[in-house]
Amino acid sequence: SHAPTDGATRELREQTEKLLQRLGVETPPPGELSARTPITGRELITLRASDSAAVDAAITRAATAFRNWRTVPAPQRAAVVRRLAALLTAHQDELGELVTLEAGKIGAEARGEVQEMIDICEFAIGLSRQLYGRTMPSERPGHRLMETWHPLGVVGVISAFNFPVAVWAWNTAVALVCGDTVVWKPSEATPLTALACHELLRRAAREVGADPEVHQLIQGPAAIGEQLVDDSRVALVSATGSVRMGQRVAPRVAARFGRCLLELGGNNAAIVTPSADLDLTTRGIVFAAAGTAGQRCTTLRRLIVHASVAGPLLDRISAAYRQLRVGNPLDEGVLVGPLINERAYDGMRSALERALADGGELICGGERLEGPDEDAFYVRPALVRMPAQTAVVREETFAPILYALTYHDLDAAIELHNGVPQGLSSSIFTRDQREAERFLAADGSDCGIANVNIGTSGAEIGGAFGGEKQTGGGRESGSDSWKTYMRRATNTVNYSTELPLAQGIRFE
Ligand code: NAD
Repeated sequence: SHAPTDGATRELREQTEKLLQRLGVETPPPGELSARTPITGRELITLRASDSAAVDAAITRAATAFRNWRTVPAPQRAAVVRRLAALLTAHQDELGELVTLEAGKIGAEARGEVQEMIDICEFAIGLSRQLYGRTMPSERPGHRLMETWHPLGVVGVISAFNFPVAVWAWNTAVALVCGDTVVWKPSEATPLTALACHELLRRAAREVGADPEVHQLIQGPAAIGEQLVDDSRVALVSATGSVRMGQRVAPRVAARFGRCLLELGGNNAAIVTPSADLDLTTRGIVFAAAGTAGQRCTTLRRLIVHASVAGPLLDRISAAYRQLRVGNPLDEGVLVGPLINERAYDGMRSALERALADGGELICGGERLEGPDEDAFYVRPALVRMPAQTAVVREETFAPILYALTYHDLDAAIELHNGVPQGLSSSIFTRDQREAERFLAADGSDCGIANVNIGTSGAEIGGAFGGEKQTGGGRESGSDSWKTYMRRATNTVNYSTELPLAQGIRFE
């Protein structure tokens, strides 16, 4: 009875093998790790997980490579990243397709994710000539006071399934120009895109005559990540994933005085005020809430809308939701692909049950659609009107559920907005400058990202990315995020023949 799906999965398997080949990845030996596609929910291929000895060896190789890499001038280190960008450009469609197969993203978003990799490479190349330290006026005559930024060491990158390649590039492109080496533990749900990135980077290194050992890949479940987290040779652990993961990782890294960069869950909201352009607002909301099937850390999950425009706005959103094509992300015109797995679907169903028990009214969506197989989970994005911000609304459910709440006065809206444990992304839709500025002010949004008249998702690489509170406080990607990947030395140079002491102290 599974004949059609078996056929479909067989086709996807062949497509996967072809893509891996074209990306220069040799078929890995079979093992206990299962690479699945959410398109049918079935296994594509299996591969070996790294055992403890392999993790240890990878860290050793990265630590050894660091000793030389840190002395290569930063603009020369950038050559690897420049070559990587060229390879990514040449293979954009193939890597994008692999992201679709493995993570279920629609083609446009998958290619966009690879574009984001190319963008951060370009940023990192420029950055390699701008790793500026400051020179400050010394209080002592004949002295110079300055700071120098040095490479930090081995960076452990732990990444989530939903941005299987971009988050790696954000970290790796910057870490490499900063003179660090990288050990990457990708999500166990996306081992194939990881193989492809690893291969492209090593090829880039070889082609420019750099040491390919600057990048190491380890594969497997959380326990493999824990070994990376606990190893004191790993100077920085940059971890992207759930709050639960961060709660386990942060204390372990702190116990050995390592450095942590945490990019954890969000529970992002948009405030819609009476002056909002409802047409633009609707489009912004639909992309942010339903795009990527609600599986972005910046997905819009809460709508806080002024009571006077709630009716028309919710009508427009539900009309747009009914038009959304949900289905196979390889098909042209589909805007919403599958959930990553059954656990994600169970999470969505139980959140909807709780919301309804709290007095929520399901306006539209939420139902599972007939997929190609019982192991594939396709859902219609849900819009739920809530009487209050109850416990389920304050949690991140990693699926397309948009909770709508109403407000009467902006102060109360901002209270509601900030009344959740997470603090990643936020938006206000308004044409009133006072309201917009209030939202961006110190007593406005408490998130790491605060937008006006665009949705919560879809950040550019030029800015620093990350959030406050349970989102973990880390910042990566653009702006001065590079500083987390380097160590700062403060230098005082005395070029005089005297030895004056700071603070005017006399010691004689
Ligand atoms: P997850 O927490 O289940 O896994 C993320 C990664 O952490 C995986 O590689 C996993 O193996 C590893 N991991 C889990 N427990 C670990 C431990 N104790 N020690 C070491 N490693 C461990 O998350 P997921 O389901 O893959 O991704 C979805 C979550 O990620 C959502 O909460 C989403 O908001 C978040 N996310 C955040 C950002 C961001 O930049 N803030 C970006 C993407 C995703």
